[in-house]
Amino acid sequence: MLAGTAAAAAAVASPRLIVAPARAAAPPAGRQAPGFYRYKVGSYEITVVTDGARSFPLPDTFVTNVKKDEVNAALEAAYLPRDTMTLVFNPIVVNTGSKLVAIDTGYGAAEAKPNTTHGQYQQNLAAAGIDAKAIDAVIISHYHPDHVNGLLGADDKPAFPNAEILVPAAEHKFWMDDGEMSRATPGRMQGLFKDNRRVMSGEILKRTATYEWGKEIAPGITSVSTPGHTVGHTSYVIASGSARLFVFSDVTNRPELFVRNPGWHAFFDQIPDMAETTRRKVLDMLIADKMLVQTFHAPFPALGHMEKDGQGYRFVQAPWSPAV
Ligand SMILES: [Zn+2]
Repeated sequence: MLAGTAAAAAAVASPRLIVAPARAAAPPAGRQAPGFYRYKVGSYEITVVTDGARSFPLPDTFVTNVKKDEVNAALEAAYLPRDTMTLVFNPIVVNTGSKLVAIDTGYGAAEAKPNTTHGQYQQNLAAAGIDAKAIDAVIISHYHPDHVNGLLGADDKPAFPNAEILVPAAEHKFWMDDGEMSRATPGRMQGLFKDNRRVMSGEILKRTATYEWGKEIAPGITSVSTPGHTVGHTSYVIASGSARLFVFSDVTNRPELFVRNPGWHAFFDQIPDMAETTRRKVLDMLIADKMLVQTFHAPFPALGHMEKDGQGYRFVQAPWSPAV
C-alpha cells in the first residue's frame, strides 16, 4: 500500500533529486531571543521577564541532608547534566490596569557582562516594551541578591527611578539589625548582610516601605507568609475577578530537585526545617486548589501547576500560548 501511495505521488509530481545537501548561507545566530512571556490572570496582564540563568559546578553540600550522588541521580532523572547546577531567575511584572508592579528584580544590570548569562532583566524588560520609569512599585519577596540587586542599575542609581519599593517587614528588620549582623556566620551570611546593606541604602532606602503578611499590598496582590528560605520570605496571591495566581517566590529552588523531593534542604535555606514545613504546606495547598503557580526558579517561563507524584511532587509547566 505504501509503495502504491508513493508511486501515485511520484506520478503527480516528480521532484528534483537532491544529490548533495544545500550549503547553509547564513551563519548561526548564536544568541537567544529576549526572554519575556505574557499571560493573563483575570484582567491583569503578567509579564515574566527572565534575568537569565547561572551555571556552576555542583557543590558537595548543595543539598545539605542528602549525598551528592542522590542529587546527581535526580539531575539525571530530569535529563539535566550531572555535576552542574544551573539556577534560573524569573521575576514578573504585573499590569493591574491602573498600576505597573514588578515583583523581584533579578541580579541587575551590574551582572550583565559579555560572558555572563544572568543580569539580563533590564534588557529583557526593555525588549518587552516596558519602561523601567513607568514601574509604580517594586515588591521584594526576600533579601537574596537574585531578587534585590536589580533594584540598582549598572550605574548604582535606582533601576526603577519612579517606583516605591515594598519589602517584607520581618525580612527588612532581620537584615538591617546590627545584632543579627554581628552574629552572622563568616562567609555566605556575612556576605549577604554586606550586600543587603549596600543595596538597601541611600535613594533605595528612602523609597522603601515595609509590609506585613496577609495584607493587600498593591491592587489585587496579597502577601502570603512563607518563611524558612529566609526569616521574612514572602509569596503572593494575585487575584483579578475570579482568577487567582500564586506567586511562589523561593518556596523551592529547581523543581526537579526540591519539588520532586520536598524533604531536601538546599544550602541556601536559612531555617531548613521551617522551609520544609512551608514547602509541604504550600505544595499541598496548590494541589488541593489546582492553583496556577508562577515560580521563580523553574525553567522559563516558570508557570504551571503542582501535582502529587509518588513520595514527592511534580511541577507541570503550562503550555506556551501564542495569544496573551
Ligand atoms: Zn532566589
